[in-house]
Amino acid sequence: MISEEEARRRILEKITPRPDRTVSLAIALNCFSARDVFARVPLPGFDNSAMDGYAVVASSCRKGARLRVIGEQPAGPDRKLHVDPGEAVRIFTGAPLPKGADTIVMQEDGTREGTDIIINVDVEAGDFLRRRGCDLAEGQLILARGERIRAATVALLASQGFADVIVGGQATAAVISTGDELVEPGGPIGPGQIYDSNSALLNALLRKCGVTVNSVEHCRDDRQSLGEAIMRGVKNHVLIISGGVSVGEHDLVKEVLRELGGKIEIWRVAVKPGKPFLFGNIGECFVFGLPGNPVSAFVTFFQFVRPAALRMMGATNLDLPQVPAKLAVGLTNDGGRPHYVRGKLEHGKFTPVGRQESHALFGLSQANALLRVGVGQSLNADEIVAVQIWD
Ligand code: AMP
Ligand code: MG
Repeated sequence: MISEEEARRRILEKITPRPDRTVSLAIALNCFSARDVFARVPLPGFDNSAMDGYAVVASSCRKGARLRVIGEQPAGPDRKLHVDPGEAVRIFTGAPLPKGADTIVMQEDGTREGTDIIINVDVEAGDFLRRRGCDLAEGQLILARGERIRAATVALLASQGFADVIVGGQATAAVISTGDELVEPGGPIGPGQIYDSNSALLNALLRKCGVTVNSVEHCRDDRQSLGEAIMRGVKNHVLIISGGVSVGEHDLVKEVLRELGGKIEIWRVAVKPGKPFLFGNIGECFVFGLPGNPVSAFVTFFQFVRPAALRMMGATNLDLPQVPAKLAVGLTNDGGRPHYVRGKLEHGKFTPVGRQESHALFGLSQANALLRVGVGQSLNADEIVAVQIWD
């Protein structure tokens, strides 16, 4: 049995990023940038009005001043108007600032009298103006290589005139859930049977981290069916097999993988839950064998599969986000493996939830954070700890 750090290191050293590709912004969400991207235009691109109102010269504009409105500048092409002291240009949000003007008086702060405007407030130079480059300078880094593209990133790239972006490669996956006891949700269930929940779980987790899931299938604990399912699955970059990786007579995954020419790099990792975790490959396809217990599958997915998938897709940060939290209760790990405690992080406080057993799916569903308690570690109530979050 190896440590989880060692397992993670050995997995990641096998994984190389998939080839980059260019995608349109419409489908770039959650991809990882393959380049450092720099601003090619400043934001704003030109001095413009932040309000509907009047562009004026501040020095000629005390409260009560009467100005002559000499023209109108809507958002759109610059009409190249010029404002002198004692004059105003009717202006609208986003419209280019006329030459000579150094401030905007909001529409609500003036009274229109024919071709004049009476100013009802004291005005200072620079009011309600958006200066060229005040948000973003030309040449500034807007997206780092390996960074995830979020909704606001897509908007920022669009604001720079980019129609597409170079991102890391796509990773595809197949999921196989093994077990004679499993029944597909939707059908009737008999004594001793359970509904297959890992298929749904792993499909969801893979999609959430941006992997394309090409197939999800259930397979009985039978060498031949398993072998055939594996051969279909290995057409993908990643194959995830749930269950059948432990030490029982019905745990066939290891043997069948070997029979098919697969190489098993890791089997059994010192982590709780999740000990029977397996990692290997058949040809180009990386195979992850996750324990059948749902919480074990969940924890090992986040500690081992997610980092590998992210690296394939060009991400640089492979870790779950960590946030500080105040621990609600004392926790001690007397066992021989680091323990990932499931809990709820709420208002900065982490409270373990549900039964801390590897089958306890309801507790997991109520949790939003994991706390790793190391071997022999004792944590006190109210202590500040770092918890991993996934939502
Ligand atoms: P295994 O890893 O195959 O020994 O399974 C360990 C435990 O997880 C057993 O209680 C199984 O019934 C359960 N299990 C295995 N696969 C699934 C699945 N796909 N969905 C829900 N529970 C499962
Ligand atoms: Mg099984």
